[in-house]
Amino acid sequence: MDKPLTRNIKSDGSTVTLAEYLASGGYEGLKKTLAEFAPLDVQQRVKDSGLRGRGGAGFPTGLKWSFVPMGEGAPRTKYLVVNGDEMEPGAFKDRLLLEGDPHQLIEGVVIAAYAIQANIAYVFLRGEYRLAAARLRQAIAEAEAQGLLGEDILGSGFSLDLRLHTSAGRYICGEETALLNSLEGKRANPRAKPPFPQVSGLFGKPTIVNNVETLCNLPHILRNGVEWYKGLSRTGEPGTKIYGVSGRVRSPGAWELPMGTTAREIIEEHAGGMRDGYRLKGYLPGGASTDFLLPEHLDIPMDYGSIGKAGSRLGTGTMILLDDKTCPVQMVLNLERFFAQESCGWCTPCRDGLPWTVSLLEGLIEGRGRPEDLETLERLCGLLGPGNTFCALAPGAMEPLQSALKHFRADFERYLQPQTTRGGMYA
Ligand code: NAD
Repeated sequence: MDKPLTRNIKSDGSTVTLAEYLASGGYEGLKKTLAEFAPLDVQQRVKDSGLRGRGGAGFPTGLKWSFVPMGEGAPRTKYLVVNGDEMEPGAFKDRLLLEGDPHQLIEGVVIAAYAIQANIAYVFLRGEYRLAAARLRQAIAEAEAQGLLGEDILGSGFSLDLRLHTSAGRYICGEETALLNSLEGKRANPRAKPPFPQVSGLFGKPTIVNNVETLCNLPHILRNGVEWYKGLSRTGEPGTKIYGVSGRVRSPGAWELPMGTTAREIIEEHAGGMRDGYRLKGYLPGGASTDFLLPEHLDIPMDYGSIGKAGSRLGTGTMILLDDKTCPVQMVLNLERFFAQESCGWCTPCRDGLPWTVSLLEGLIEGRGRPEDLETLERLCGLLGPGNTFCALAPGAMEPLQSALKHFRADFERYLQPQTTRGGMYA
């Protein structure tokens, strides 16, 4: 099985050196790009490849790039920003790539910057990813010393200054416009879109924000071609995906697999199946801000379209499992507490609605719930839903709640029974 993104990643946790990366064909995609393709050709190839953003939303990468003004009359200053602020509960796939093979990311960054003709790039990195920061800093210095980064890269005339910025540590900083405000030294509130960053982003200049895993795909697409890339997948959506599993399985972890691998295969073969004494009750397929799916969905291909049709989102592709000994109401409360704490407070539905959601769930669990509270929770799912807030934080927060209310209604109702104590049937 071809695993281009993780082929070099070592099981002992050490990083790939520049010499090892070069020996594995590293920087060949960049060499080919600079020697053979004009920037717009690179954009076209990435469009043709069908690569979709791996940060969670799955927006087509080549299409996103094509919104950047190019050629005569376009602003000369443009930026590429790497979103390495991986903070979605359950997600740890970018960390694997950042720590394990930082040169692969750098190669992807130079290719993307060349495609949009940006001469400055930033890596916006989650503050707690200290090991990744140290390894990336060293890799940047090595790449600069070898002429793979900096002035006149590989004699092509293209130059790129790559700067590492570590976040002060808020979930909202991963939202692309909040991230840009944070990079500018401002409070990390999301900006209204449009204008999208592709047109007016960092310091008002055209900016592309791409996720770590997305960028790591580029060296391989440019080196091996679009048809090869499409052949990696099991479905109509191309490439591989780094899937992950957390929860009560025998071997939680993350694995690069063909796009469209089923959740059953990921859980049973790669994560070793459920631990003895635990049964799967449901799962969030793509991190905390996705809707629950049920065991009956296990054979659906894990790609954007199929998971969307099943009523959830692929998101980051890193699953969180709910087992039969964990109370879904308490699991959802745990998630909502996180989202309420991480709300930036910029818009009213999110600032006020999330703490309200938390207090209703706490009241329910503590035996103070009223039947109408379930209706209020349902109403909040709409009020905090898409279109009512500046960014996706609150709508994302509502996804596990609305789907839990639908699939695990009896667990919520059980807390309305007088005899149910804290913890309900799971205590
Ligand atoms: P989004 O759909 O608004 O945007 C995704 C990307 O597509 C952005 O770069 C945006 O600029 C671009 N885009 C979307 N519509 C466009 C248009 N009409 N014209 C031009 N460009 C357009 O999603 P989002 O708010 O950026 O991200 C939400 C996702 O982030 C969720 O799906 C969630 O799963 C994920 N997420 C991931 C993490 C993590 O740690 N990786 C954390 C939180 C959330």
